[in-house]
Amino acid sequence: MSKACRVCHSITEKTASICPNCKTQDLSSEYTGEIFILDPEDSEVAKKMKISKKGHYALRVR
Ligand SMILES: [Zn+2]
Repeated sequence: MSKACRVCHSITEKTASICPNCKTQDLSSEYTGEIFILDPEDSEVAKKMKISKKGHYALRVR
């Protein structure tokens, strides 16, 4: 099980202690849904979630 960042929803390794994307320590192992954003400028989901970088994200983080 990986962890997801509560701030930017980026999914990280479970051993990570900070988010490599936004550098917060606000990580959670409880999240639902995963999405790969390949083209943030052309993705409705990315816009909704305010994602500007491509990557692996969680849809919901608890
Ligand atoms: Zn983050």
